[in-house]
Amino acid sequence: MRAVNHDGRAGLVIGDEIVDVERGSAGRFGSDPQALYDRWDEVREWAATAGAVVAGRTGVRPGDVRLAAPVPSPRQVFAIGLNYRAHAQEAGIEEPPAPMVFTKFPTCIGAPSGEIALPPGSVDYEAELVVVIGRRAERVAASEAWGHVAGLTVGQDISERALQTSRPHPPQYSLAKSHPAFGPIGPVVVSPDEFDDPGDLAIGCSLNGEEMQAARTGDMIFDVPALVAYLSSVVTLLPGDLIFTGTPSGVGYARRPRRLLESGDQLVTWVEGIGEMRHRIVP
Ligand code: ZN
Repeated sequence: MRAVNHDGRAGLVIGDEIVDVERGSAGRFGSDPQALYDRWDEVREWAATAGAVVAGRTGVRPGDVRLAAPVPSPRQVFAIGLNYRAHAQEAGIEEPPAPMVFTKFPTCIGAPSGEIALPPGSVDYEAELVVVIGRRAERVAASEAWGHVAGLTVGQDISERALQTSRPHPPQYSLAKSHPAFGPIGPVVVSPDEFDDPGDLAIGCSLNGEEMQAARTGDMIFDVPALVAYLSSVVTLLPGDLIFTGTPSGVGYARRPRRLLESGDQLVTWVEGIGEMRHRIVP
């Protein structure tokens, strides 16, 4: 199943068309894209029926419209640092023995296209696979973890490196990564069953057409099941929560010379089997 946020309304992509969930289900499910994840299992059952397709057809193709964030207001947003071996190396930090966890505050979640405004400082890109939780998870074993995942989407963990790392501040990971629009996601949430192997997908991003990051999610130090197991050993994960799973090597701050985001840059971010996000960097 492929879920989108079209004009603030929950939609499913069926064939190459967006089906409106509320209209298609004659009101059984509401229009709120965030609430879709509270009833994900029921929505999946419903979407498998022929009636779902006919009644809610919009005639709109997902590539022809500006979609909003498919998970617009998650209650919790987790993010993982240093989760690819090559990225830990370029950051000059040893591989952590457990996932390094911080948050992106939920107001930073943004649309999969449009503008990202630069605050003062050193703003960098981080292409990431983002996990969307589909079932409440408390102390879930890794072997059961995929069953609690609604789907996967593309994300950028945009980061302001001065606040994140430098003196005289204490390191402010969560604040430095939570400016408005610093957490764009989308364009679609794809359920795990749609992939041949949801654990090994090509991921990357480009700036003005030049490839900056290119890797596979199979190179993660802690894979998706390990992250769900680790996080849910402490925190209760709720439907519609997000996990930014870490970025591969090639971030601008680690390049020599550094390549930070500049006004006018075109940032394209992709994950295999999901799609791409396109953003313009503005002052
Ligand atoms: Zn990150």
